[in-house]
Amino acid sequence: MFNAKEIKKEFPILKRSVNGQNLHYLDNGASSQKPIGVIEAVKNCYLNEYSNVHRGLHFLSNLATENFEAVRKKAKKFLGASFEKEIIFTSGSTEGLNLISYSWANENLVEGDEIILTTLEHHANIVPWHFLRDRKNITLSWVNPDEYGNISLSQIKEKITKNTKMVCFTHMSNVFGSILNAREICEFLRSKEIVSVVDGSQAAAHLNIDVRDISCDFYVITGHKIFGPTGTGILYIREDRLREMIPFNGGGSMIKSVTKENVLYNDSPHIFEAGTPNIAEIIGLGAAFDFIESLDQKAVLEYEIKLSDYARQELKKLDWLVRYSFSDPNIAIFSFSVKGKGHPHDIATILDANGVAVRSGHHCAQPLMDFLGVSATCRASFALYNNEEDVDALISSLKKCNRLFN
Ligand SMILES: *Cc1c(COP(=O)(O)O)cnc(C)c1O
Repeated sequence: MFNAKEIKKEFPILKRSVNGQNLHYLDNGASSQKPIGVIEAVKNCYLNEYSNVHRGLHFLSNLATENFEAVRKKAKKFLGASFEKEIIFTSGSTEGLNLISYSWANENLVEGDEIILTTLEHHANIVPWHFLRDRKNITLSWVNPDEYGNISLSQIKEKITKNTKMVCFTHMSNVFGSILNAREICEFLRSKEIVSVVDGSQAAAHLNIDVRDISCDFYVITGHKIFGPTGTGILYIREDRLREMIPFNGGGSMIKSVTKENVLYNDSPHIFEAGTPNIAEIIGLGAAFDFIESLDQKAVLEYEIKLSDYARQELKKLDWLVRYSFSDPNIAIFSFSVKGKGHPHDIATILDANGVAVRSGHHCAQPLMDFLGVSATCRASFALYNNEEDVDALISSLKKCNRLFN
């Protein structure tokens, strides 16, 4: 069983007040808070077990390396990957996606090739493909979401041409909380020899991820949205793509040997991990994996679905609320604004005065905002430590907004 109120106690920051009010943290889509186990793991690394990794022969270097590489094993298990060489440490999803663009796509695509993106994408899964378009003269084509804020395989199929080489899509929308059927999409793409890139930044915080089951070529997650430290992330690269890739950053660790004339590269994963990594933070990410794995993940998802249903039902009662794709299967993320004179930034400010932390803005998804015909929305996003009291605080402070605006 899963007890959200008990779990909340593991997150020290959630006990604090803001603006003289109890904190209701509903900005998990931007970043989640950290359990004590993650905080302690980072602290313990610096207090007792810190040194640079991979290069030393002394005790602390070996210990740090062991702890660091143990996280790779945990990440492999968390994502359901087959081999450790498929697991690359990154600074986050943004770096993971840029790495794919540079090290695979820039190397393998040629003028006239097409990449399909969706209008749901975060800028991190758009801008690297713009770079590539400008460099290689390839074409980007776009799939718009349906009325549920979702995108189905059949919508993607409509855009596929003989020139389509890649499809890049988010597993879960950071604006609607809609979940794409990644397995169905990737299995089809694989059958057509089209490369799939899945942005799991939001999905990994809510769903059990299994990259082998999904059968994607690339999958990215970012540590700070799954209760881990900032500056951490994982890029999964399916083994058979590795040999088609060139290095990303050059520097220490990614080489076997360097002479004045030549460089002999290291094998994966090290070839993609130049320089000193975020050692303590990655060890903290390991503690985040431990935290998630310690929970009954099925029960957590059931809880989040129930909480999302409650939030949706309460938000739907506010007939002056503009709601964006509030459909039933969507979870954890709600985008809205208040009819009348208030801008989403005004709403967020009023909510903040009541201790309710939400985000307002374009959510790094400007093409989606354009599609919706707005410049910004308010977004309340839930994590496993939220509860009905957070929903109730959101609703009562939204009512205050409505009274002020109308
Ligand atoms: C947050 C987010 C990203 C970017 O993650 P970073 O941690 O900023 O690199 C990419 N895609 C989606 C869907 C996100 O929610």
